[in-house]
Amino acid sequence: MKNNNVKKVVIAGGGTAGWVAAAALVKQLGKLLDVVLVESDQIGTVGVGEATIPPMRTFHSLLGIDEQEFMRATESVFKLGISFKNWGQIGDQYIHPFGSTGQGSYLADFQHLWLHGKSKGINEEFGAYSLEVQAAKANKFATSKNNILNYAYHLDATRYAQFLRKFSEKLGVKRIEGKIQQVQQHPDGDIKALHLESGEIIAADFFIDCTGFAGLLIDKTLKTPYEDWSHWLPCNSAVPVQTESIEPAKPYVTCTAHKAGWQWHIPLQHRVGNGNVFCDAFMSDEQAKQHLLENVQGKVLTEPRVIKYKTGRRKVFWNRNCVALGLSSGFVEPLESTSIYMFMMGIVRLMRLFPFNGVTQSSIDEYNQQSIAELENIRDFIILHYHATSREDSEFWRYCKNMSVPDSLSHRLELFRENGLYYQGDRELFRLDSWLHVMLGQGIMPKHYHSIFKTMSDEELVSHLTNTRNTIANTLSKIPNHQEFVNQYCKAQR
Ligand code: FAD
Repeated sequence: MKNNNVKKVVIAGGGTAGWVAAAALVKQLGKLLDVVLVESDQIGTVGVGEATIPPMRTFHSLLGIDEQEFMRATESVFKLGISFKNWGQIGDQYIHPFGSTGQGSYLADFQHLWLHGKSKGINEEFGAYSLEVQAAKANKFATSKNNILNYAYHLDATRYAQFLRKFSEKLGVKRIEGKIQQVQQHPDGDIKALHLESGEIIAADFFIDCTGFAGLLIDKTLKTPYEDWSHWLPCNSAVPVQTESIEPAKPYVTCTAHKAGWQWHIPLQHRVGNGNVFCDAFMSDEQAKQHLLENVQGKVLTEPRVIKYKTGRRKVFWNRNCVALGLSSGFVEPLESTSIYMFMMGIVRLMRLFPFNGVTQSSIDEYNQQSIAELENIRDFIILHYHATSREDSEFWRYCKNMSVPDSLSHRLELFRENGLYYQGDRELFRLDSWLHVMLGQGIMPKHYHSIFKTMSDEELVSHLTNTRNTIANTLSKIPNHQEFVNQYCKAQR
């Protein structure tokens, strides 16, 4: 590795990942770096990726993006969580909300209090203590100065990339249209330049691979190995389709499990994004398309096209003078809307460790360690949805229920099953409340719970739980309807 100062960065690829990287780099480091992005209209983008999670708001404030302007440009609506149907067993339904649920004590989190209430016959569901769950069920939403609701967005992925392109070009990112034909390396293996079909050669000190599943730099050039996770997450195909809206937009995504995977429903201002994620060993591409079209509402606006993928990750995300972001770095299915978050975090992490004075192994190792730990936590959380099931109605679900899972997940499950306990690491994206909603929502009921709340009198217990629910109901009564709020806050001009 050479100790060359890094002054010029080339981003290969202009999908969501490429433009997110460009926008962040130019906004934060534009005075120190030349940022160039190469993309090919001929190849196009994957064009899906419409559900997000709350850290996107922090990313946008880092970039100084105005929420209303962004929402109007991308036809976005608000997201309070995900409604899961048929996951624990057929007929089940629960919401995994953003935000925190109930209030526990210093020694024991809220699930112990809730479990104690249950043992005393207070049978309200866990979600009864979450403002976001109740707001989602009532189709209500509002932002406020101190944001009592934790939220993210449903957005139009193509419009989002266009929005960020405009933002980035205005701040000085140079976009070059053209197909990359060859990637040239220095004698030591570092990347030297991209050769375009037009004959143009684009050299740089540092490269970001955002070429999607093609992985032109990280894979085809640097031959970075891939770690396959499909034994834990067997879905390997997706078929998206857009439909006309037939009702006001709900402030949540719906993920409905079927016999060999699941189907998403993501309402936007102007249309609905739908898709079927499936394992092709248990459902053919044709069956998947048919299942999708039979289960959407409203006029179909696009031709369903099957996307194939292999769940897993590159062994390293930063290799030599190249960082892979987005689909080129690996893929974990969109069940919890984590991909956009991962490359937003990826570019922020890179900017923190940026190799202004030359690439060093210690920075590479730190970047890879942090990114891998974060992705493995996300992976475990997604596996949980498949593994914590009582479904035995198809070969797919029998496999998921009985498969072995990573040790990190088994330990978590045992701790919760036995004593209702949960611990989280510092860098984990999904926090206590997320895990609780999914574990309880899919029917894992702990054998025991912490005894601290047994010291409360029955009256105290009832009054604490009732007060929490009443406070939520009271707050909810002041929150407007979601669609009405969208109409006055950020309605897109068409
Ligand atoms: P792409 O969009 O594929 O872009 C690749 C870019 O590289 C394009 O600009 C292309 O032109 C360029 N390129 C490729 N080869 C060349 C070449 N030879 N020369 C020049 N340019 C080239 N994420 C979420 O956060 N939430 C979701 O709800 C969600 N849903 C998803 C559903 C599905 C079915 C899939 C597959 C993904 C989903 N994702 C989701 C992930 C999300 O879509 C992607 O992470 C995101 O779109 C980023 O893609 P990308 O930019 O890495 O790749």
